[in-house]
Amino acid sequence: MKQQLFKKLQQIAEQNLLDIEVHKKKGEHVVGFYCLYAPTELAVAANAIVLPLCGTRQAPIEAAEERLPRNLCPLIKSSYGFAVTDTCPFFRFSDMIVADTTCDGKKKMFELMSDIKPVHVLQLPQNQDFNISLEPWKNEIEKLRTVLETLTDKKITQEKISLAIALLNNERKTKKRLMDVTKAKPSPLTGMELVEILFKTGFFADKQKGIDLMNEIADLCLQLIEKKESPYTTETPRILLTGVPIGLGSDKVVKIIEQSGANVVAFENCSGYKQTFQVNEEKDPMLALSEQYLSIPCSVMSPNQGRIDLLKEMISEFSIDGVVDLTWQACHTYNIESYHIQKLVQESFGLPFLHLETDYSESDTEQLRVRIEAFLEMT
Ligand code: SF4
Ligand code: SF4
Repeated sequence: MKQQLFKKLQQIAEQNLLDIEVHKKKGEHVVGFYCLYAPTELAVAANAIVLPLCGTRQAPIEAAEERLPRNLCPLIKSSYGFAVTDTCPFFRFSDMIVADTTCDGKKKMFELMSDIKPVHVLQLPQNQDFNISLEPWKNEIEKLRTVLETLTDKKITQEKISLAIALLNNERKTKKRLMDVTKAKPSPLTGMELVEILFKTGFFADKQKGIDLMNEIADLCLQLIEKKESPYTTETPRILLTGVPIGLGSDKVVKIIEQSGANVVAFENCSGYKQTFQVNEEKDPMLALSEQYLSIPCSVMSPNQGRIDLLKEMISEFSIDGVVDLTWQACHTYNIESYHIQKLVQESFGLPFLHLETDYSESDTEQLRVRIEAFLEMT
């Protein structure tokens, strides 16, 4: 049954490219984005398809390095590499890119990317104090609304934004429901299965299809929990992965952890649990969007107390035995923040902690394996 659902996921993923083509032939638009801070509701409200474009593969990095420095985050190089080699269909489909001034590498890369496609950059404040940052951020979101109205030639009304918020809240709630099945001990899903589901459904042109499929998988998982069917035992070490985002192709650490006999049950990063926030549906929609997106606890914010709070909650709720903090090479914000995360994990929870800094290549796989195996012995 589980296999059938993964087959269905693959079939919808393949059909998805055709769905996007049909959408474009009807004169509708596609908007690509690179960061969780982009309020995609506005594009959905303009009937555009929204596609997450962060590069997760090693293949295009060599081409990117012809223009970008080698000692740059692989996510940035991969993203730019896909654009410059024209090897990502989702980038090709995108009529416009919504980017944000998050970290230095990303915002400077977008300057180069704008030679290839129209890029609209949101000036993201780096502080979450609403007294300081909410007004300028709300203005940025208003500007984006106008830019999208011009692109799509559609009026983005308050009503349409509210409908888009409700749809994406439902998607986020469903993602949380799915991710929460791994709270069961043992978990019915492997970490790699969860990565695959979240990654592939993220590209679905039809959000409702993704929501329905995630619910179907979550329902099946609940049945498996009841029947006590799991690839693991109650003794399997349960790992929380925090830090930088991952996806299919940049999942080597998850693979190694699971090949070494543990189960990654929780993903705190922005490809995981950070996506599960809810936008307030009772407030003015533009204000609600501004507040909620500004509150995302990524390391580009200073300070970033929200990540600590989220980790505290997740470590308890997912019955975690050890925490792995992943940093992509040259990502200064996550690298430095690791100090606070280590303190939290070791001093407040007394749990084993491992900080890994790596890139997308396979060159350090065996070194990582040795360190991960030694770490798992402490769990
Ligand atoms: S890690 Fe932070 S800056 Fe990078 S994509 Fe995620 S939310 Fe955006
Ligand atoms: S992982 Fe770090 S360096 Fe890379 S894009 Fe995200 S914040 Fe920037």
